[in-house]
Amino acid sequence: MFILTGEEILKKCYELNKELWEVALMYELSLGNKTKEMIYKDLDYVIDVMESSSKRGREEIVVSLSGLIGGDSKKIQEYLESNSPLVTDYFLVKAMGRAVSCSEVNAAMGKIVAMPTAGACGIIPAAILSVSEKFNFDREKIRRALLVASIIGMIFIENATISGAEGGCQAECGTASAMASAAVVYMMGGDCEASFHAAAICIKNVLGLICDPVLGLVEIPCAKRNASGVVNALSVSDLVLAGVRSKIDFDDCVKALDEVGRDMAKEYRETALGGLAKTKSAKRLKQRIKNFNMGTLE
Ligand code: SF4
Repeated sequence: MFILTGEEILKKCYELNKELWEVALMYELSLGNKTKEMIYKDLDYVIDVMESSSKRGREEIVVSLSGLIGGDSKKIQEYLESNSPLVTDYFLVKAMGRAVSCSEVNAAMGKIVAMPTAGACGIIPAAILSVSEKFNFDREKIRRALLVASIIGMIFIENATISGAEGGCQAECGTASAMASAAVVYMMGGDCEASFHAAAICIKNVLGLICDPVLGLVEIPCAKRNASGVVNALSVSDLVLAGVRSKIDFDDCVKALDEVGRDMAKEYRETALGGLAKTKSAKRLKQRIKNFNMGTLE
């Protein structure tokens, strides 16, 4: 029987002397509807879609159905190929390109993996695939990283929310960053406790982030929040691997996220009535969509 809190999962890791991915796999098996082979088959499918969605936007201009976003991932790739990126190195900028690619593919109605939601679909693929590429990790490592991410996500589902409509963007992109960072820390040799510290710090960094999609479309500011979400995940992973720890327990961070989400006014929970969605720029973009639909967009 699994009680899905960080404390309980950590206890299982220690009591059973298992890594976080192993406890995550035990949890999946405990649901009783899949064998390990079936779970691995699902994971392989997820990895294939992660790879294709994080690549497509970097290779071709992918435009959303509304015409509001598109082409940014390709711009980032071209920038990488002809410039010396400002932030650290090629690695981080390429990770942002991957995250934006997934968002663009999502907005163009292409195939993505909702991780944990479609709005936040770029953060986990970008973090895990970038780390895997840099250190030449094999597919088994990626599968295990996904299992780590999944158990962290399940704790949010069980004790808070992963929905922007319920808890704001902190619940979507925040949860995705926490899942990604916990996975990356695992990949880099961190122990179970370190993964929970990473997840906690990621949440603390975005606590209170509202959900204010312009025109109610999962495009603006979502795509760029995926880019900042992967930067959050990767930079927090470095902090934790350097030995930095969260002074606030992971479970308390999840509770705080839940409480802040519940207190958030409806304007900031995916209704497109507040924040960026209410700005003059957003109104201008509405006209742009009309023109796009009529085929007159320049
Ligand atoms: S702004 Fe809202 S719709 Fe967009 S990614 Fe964040 S939670 Fe999802």
